[in-house]
Amino acid sequence: MSVLMSEIIGRSLDDLLEEPTFLTELKDGYREKAFKSLAAILSTPNHVHKAFLRIVLENDEVVRIPAYRIQHNNTLGPYKGGIRFHESVNEDEVVNLAALMTLKNALHEVPFGGGKGGVAINPREYDVRELYQICKKYVQYFSDILGPDKDIPAPDAGTGEREMNWMMSEYKSIRPGQRYRGSFTGKSVMNGGSLGRREATGKGVYFTLRYFLKDYLTENQQQLSESDNPIAQTALAYRDRKLKLAVQGFGNVGSVAALEAVHCDHLSNQVVAVSDRNVTLYHPEGLNIPALVQFTAMNRGDLPQTAEELAEAGVQAEVLDREDILYMDVDVLVLAALENQIHQDNVSRVQARIMVEGANAPITEEADTMLTQQGAIIIPDILANAGGVIVSYLEWLQGRETQFYSEDEVFKQLFDKMSTTMKAVYPAYMGTGKSLRQVCYNQAIMKLSANLYLQGKLF
Ligand code: NAD
Repeated sequence: MSVLMSEIIGRSLDDLLEEPTFLTELKDGYREKAFKSLAAILSTPNHVHKAFLRIVLENDEVVRIPAYRIQHNNTLGPYKGGIRFHESVNEDEVVNLAALMTLKNALHEVPFGGGKGGVAINPREYDVRELYQICKKYVQYFSDILGPDKDIPAPDAGTGEREMNWMMSEYKSIRPGQRYRGSFTGKSVMNGGSLGRREATGKGVYFTLRYFLKDYLTENQQQLSESDNPIAQTALAYRDRKLKLAVQGFGNVGSVAALEAVHCDHLSNQVVAVSDRNVTLYHPEGLNIPALVQFTAMNRGDLPQTAEELAEAGVQAEVLDREDILYMDVDVLVLAALENQIHQDNVSRVQARIMVEGANAPITEEADTMLTQQGAIIIPDILANAGGVIVSYLEWLQGRETQFYSEDEVFKQLFDKMSTTMKAVYPAYMGTGKSLRQVCYNQAIMKLSANLYLQGKLF
């Protein structure tokens, strides 16, 4: 993430200082001091934990691998956030992602704080026994600070159910007789995970788009059609169109979002392009997404890259370069791969006018400002990709109660929670002229600040 969350938090607080309905109890000089306290508290993490994991490789070589657990803020509940396995992991990145988790949980009223973890490896370069050791060592090194009521990790890029299963098992061994099911979320269903957790983020990503273009616009059509806000006019024009979508990243998030789009009865969609770390696939009449999901499941997550592989998948498509997906003539671009994909140097080539951030920070701040000024609609990460942490919360609850919900119940609760958030942020987006991202940050910081004030932390 190129932009520092501490700067974003500072800007939101500057905005909120002028907001007369926010923390009305705080007056005059005391209000300014309280805002300085808020900036100090929210722009720094509570704890930065770093370790060098000692791992014996299969060839008997010993290596030490940098690993992090950052605990940003626990005002609203135990720290919560994923563990990323990626070669670019570093302390600043993990601190930033932990702060984003604090704000994401606050925005959606998930009773957790914000945390994040990372291990600086490319997991594709390690075999399964080495990865198992890395997971065990991570828990051993950080076991004192983790736990169902302290800090609850989940999967992130490079980790998944398997790693969470191993980590929970190690936690259970280190703390026999203690509660352990809620120590990690994103586990396999057979191992105490929740039905629907795997699909939750992708479903949530698509739901934010559908809810905006269908539910919110339809419910508020009259008022919006009379509004002089150009965003409202753009959005209304898109609502009744057949939408062409492109989805960057075809992993857990992107593939589920693409499936949701093709199965949606509320909007008329065609997913004309998808991409992964190797290629972009394009078909002007729409791609066979279920067939691509099936193919990737059998091929280590990779999309077909050759005519033979496309034939094997039963998919008709043109094979283009990986980056081409960003510049296609589509209505909606779902960014579900990595951070920093649209930036100052390529933003002018982007044609989509609606973008949905499935990944964290795929659009840099400079690009975001330019797109927003041009009237593009950006549904930001903090709103769009919260489905994972919302269902992680449901998994944690189910583990506590040892009562498990049906998949329908999980998705109902997921969509109810996201709808509640959207009912608050979409009207503010249409009414204030601020970007949706800024509206989300402001609302998250308002909720956190009110709690900090009520808990007596501002003096
Ligand atoms: P994943 O590893 O399952 O899939 C990532 C996809 O992106 C793969 O298809 C991969 O081939 C593709 N990709 C990698 N490099 C690329 C590149 N340079 N260009 C185009 N595509 C590329 O990961 P995921 O779980 O789907 O997560 C995707 C993003 O969403 C990550 O940034 C993650 O941090 C974020 N996220 C995930 C969740 C979750 O619950 N999984 C929740 C919130 C945010």
